[in-house]
Amino acid sequence: MPDHVLITGGGSGIGLAIARALAAQGHPVTITGRRAEVLEAAAAETPGLFPQVMDVTEPESVEAGVAAARAARGPILIHVANAGIAEGRSLRKTTPEFWRSIMATNLDGAYLSIRACLPDMQAEGRGRVIAVASIAGLRGLKGAPAYSASKHGMIGLIRSLSEDHLGSAITFNALCPGYVDTDIVTRNVESISARAGIDADAAMEIMVSANRHGRLIHADEVAAAALWLASDAASSVNGQAIEIAGGQV
Ligand code: NDP
Repeated sequence: MPDHVLITGGGSGIGLAIARALAAQGHPVTITGRRAEVLEAAAAETPGLFPQVMDVTEPESVEAGVAAARAARGPILIHVANAGIAEGRSLRKTTPEFWRSIMATNLDGAYLSIRACLPDMQAEGRGRVIAVASIAGLRGLKGAPAYSASKHGMIGLIRSLSEDHLGSAITFNALCPGYVDTDIVTRNVESISARAGIDADAAMEIMVSANRHGRLIHADEVAAAALWLASDAASSVNGQAIEIAGGQV
């Protein structure tokens, strides 16, 4: 029986692309998020996806969601910490509430879901943890100090855990995409054009030109990297932050 996978934020965008790719290989995939209707619609379209409502900012919700998934489909041996929110605000406009909401979702969320899933992998002596970070985890993104700090934090978490579990057949890696064609980019276009007073095409161009190959990345390109990291072929790849950005970050 292929390993049970749990993907946070698996109902849309990059998480859904990874879920579909792993389900196509026969894995049962628990997809989690806050919106039941989004998860149910994704599961209705693709066999092998199983919805589980779970808010990554709430420790009790994460514990309960992971426990329910485990009870239904067995130990979780592949975990993708993907749930995230993205919004650029200058430090002056970064209120403590805004800072906390970015950290709570992107960084606390990854910590909580990894902490909840890891015991299954430790019991089995093998597993895969894949975090969806960002190029903003490797270099500071102009105008986005909170988002950049949260993504740098995710990579620090992954690198530290990889050191802690050396030789255990559990690997920890981060994917660092540039701008990917998902709802996050659509929302970014709206907020950049509102803040900078430019039209949507100009706002999109800012993101497209930030990718070194001058185009948006497709979520399936990120999913292909996740599929490889989840495979036996990548068992010696550990503690890495893999750039998917059309060129060097
Ligand atoms: P989406 O907005 O499609 O995906 C984000 C997912 O996270 C949603 O499914 C959402 O579900 C879930 N989520 C958000 N907050 C919470 C929460 N509190 N609890 C549980 N789930 C939550 O965008 P993407 O697919 O683009 O984003 C996925 C990841 O990729 C993010 O971590 C993002 O930072 C990262 N990334 C994206 C890039 C891009 O250009 N698109 C580039 C680099 C990295 P729900 O709202 O139902 O809870």
